[in-house]
Amino acid sequence: MALTLNSTHDAARRSWIDSANVPDADFPLQNLPYGAFTTANGHRTPHLGVAIGDKILDLHAAATAGLLPASVAGACQEPTLNALMAAGAGAWSELRARLSELLGADSGPTGEPRSRVEACLVPQRNATMHLAARTRDYSDFYASIHHATNVGSMLRPDNPLLPNYKWIPIGYHGRASSLVVSGTPVRRPHGQLKPADAPEPVFGPCKNFDYELELGAFVGPGNALGERIPLASAPAQLFGVSLLNDWSARDLQTWEYQPLGPFLAKNFATSLSPWIVTFEALAPFRAPALARPASDPAPLPYLVDHDDAAHGGLEVTLEVWLLTAKMRLAGEGAHRISRGNFNTMYWTLGQMLAHHASNGCNLSPGDLIGSGTVSGPSRDSRGCLLEYTWRGTDPLRLPNGEERKFLADGDEVIFRGYAERAGARRIGLGECRGLVLPAA
Ligand code: MN
Repeated sequence: MALTLNSTHDAARRSWIDSANVPDADFPLQNLPYGAFTTANGHRTPHLGVAIGDKILDLHAAATAGLLPASVAGACQEPTLNALMAAGAGAWSELRARLSELLGADSGPTGEPRSRVEACLVPQRNATMHLAARTRDYSDFYASIHHATNVGSMLRPDNPLLPNYKWIPIGYHGRASSLVVSGTPVRRPHGQLKPADAPEPVFGPCKNFDYELELGAFVGPGNALGERIPLASAPAQLFGVSLLNDWSARDLQTWEYQPLGPFLAKNFATSLSPWIVTFEALAPFRAPALARPASDPAPLPYLVDHDDAAHGGLEVTLEVWLLTAKMRLAGEGAHRISRGNFNTMYWTLGQMLAHHASNGCNLSPGDLIGSGTVSGPSRDSRGCLLEYTWRGTDPLRLPNGEERKFLADGDEVIFRGYAERAGARRIGLGECRGLVLPAA
């Protein structure tokens, strides 16, 4: 979660790989996100890679060729990022600096040495992406006050926010076993449903199927059981972010969530975008934590840190697009439903991390922290259909005349994210896609 800028952020620098220099490219030289991939005719165990333009630099091959720092060469030859995540912020920065040097037009090797780097490049179109981290534990927060207020006001119009909201970063334990990479179809779940006017529940396919637009933050070194993580250590503890879709079965959720919170309504699938954008790459897009109104309570001391207040926020634009089966058949492109920004979140990712470990709960490299649905103040910045359609009472109207209260079978949900700011090179998070399959 490095906050300082260095030469790897220099907006003027270009890569000798032309596709990285296209103005709106998601993966310019200043980004360098990590993923794991296989190729049809190549290695069967995933290799780690770095996205650059429309290519992937194969880190396993680059380490074997002696192109990477010796301190991280072993970690770069693992099938997941966990060893690199455990290596800590110093190692992350050293590797990023070397990758920037290898791929930079100004600093990169020329002649025969450059051909050694070129030999490690794979076209992204030839790669199958996999989850880049082995995630042992996944927790999901509820850090957007707009989301919490909207959802709360559907249930309690006069008192939408529960009394703990402004004191505690609210969260629940998710399920790591059902994390899937972008592009994996997601099947509509079965579960217990109880319409409000029915005397008893029934078991059947979910009718109110929804997405939740979130960021997922990956933990770096973590902490030993019984130890806490001070908020000031967050920059050394948070590795990077992906787009996260916390698929939600709203009708299952309504019936099951009291008194212990979400369970089967959310644990059947959670999608992640394949590229993990590091906090170091996001350094130019840090922002102050959300300014709290004077009438709100100040956070308790363990949730206060000067640097986190000054730089703990993130200016990242997040979009939801929908491609229905009818649109796909007609050859139409996806329709953008909403666009929001992570800078509207009430709690920072650092506060979520520090709170999670505040009781001595141990976090491990690769553990995942979901931010909660990212919703802003306006309708077009609401990050799930529950809010956007106000529980189905105000349907989404698509350009082709279709309407949605919730997702239909054959719908594909596409999240996109990017960060841009004057003086910085725009970087992208790529996409997180998921096609809704009919219930089995
Ligand atoms: Mn969620």
